[in-house]
Amino acid sequence: MTAPNRDRRGQLADNLGAVRARIGAAAEAAGRDPDEITLVAVTKRFPSDDVELLAQLGVTDVGENRAQEVRDKRAQVPQCPVRWHFIGQLQTNKARMVATAVDCVQTVDRLALVAALARATVGRDVPLDCLVQVSLAAISDADEHRGGCPPDAVLDVAAALDEVPTLRLGGIMGMAPLNSDPEVAFARMAPVVADVRAHWPAATVVSAGMSGDLEAAVAAGATHVRVGTALLGARPVLR
Ligand SMILES: *Cc1c(COP(=O)(O)O)cnc(C)c1O
Repeated sequence: MTAPNRDRRGQLADNLGAVRARIGAAAEAAGRDPDEITLVAVTKRFPSDDVELLAQLGVTDVGENRAQEVRDKRAQVPQCPVRWHFIGQLQTNKARMVATAVDCVQTVDRLALVAALARATVGRDVPLDCLVQVSLAAISDADEHRGGCPPDAVLDVAAALDEVPTLRLGGIMGMAPLNSDPEVAFARMAPVVADVRAHWPAATVVSAGMSGDLEAAVAAGATHVRVGTALLGARPVLR
């Protein structure tokens, strides 16, 4: 192992310890078991070497937001024992590429995408896990768009997912709007989560929270937090 790589490993180990401590403290404050919260390391823009180092350090799940990037990165480390999550906005014409490359698509936000993923997974034996992404923007803030369907459309998308044998409805994903109060945003998610669980008790995943707001997400019931910057550092800019 080269010296820079050893340094990177140490840096990732330190950051991972700090993030796990934050999750632990937030869980304790909320009276929850930290073991019920899965850390998804958001490795977008970082090399597959980092995915391998994180896996060696005990990270089990990684998140990526671009189709080509996740396809290429996974192909570079085919033996790496992590679950790959897609967390970016997904165009229907990239559904096949993403469905082949990942274990879970967290950003299913419209019926056309369910249909595209259904076509992309025909013949697959292990169903592709899918989360319905709900928009947590205030109704009044129509300009704010980080993807996601309106809360009142979630049940329709979930029902469509549930009808496709090669797709598995895992639960809900949400992202607090930029410059919003994350507690207010995550509070909008609670009734949606309750509705989905009432219809599909096995759909228990709540993916919410990032580097800046994971405490609020854990307080609001997140089962998965998606953490990039706090683990890997500032992201390299897009080429
Ligand atoms: C990039 C990204 C994250 C991670 O954000 P950080 O602030 O770097 O932790 C989480 N979720 C989604 C959907 C993302 O695109």
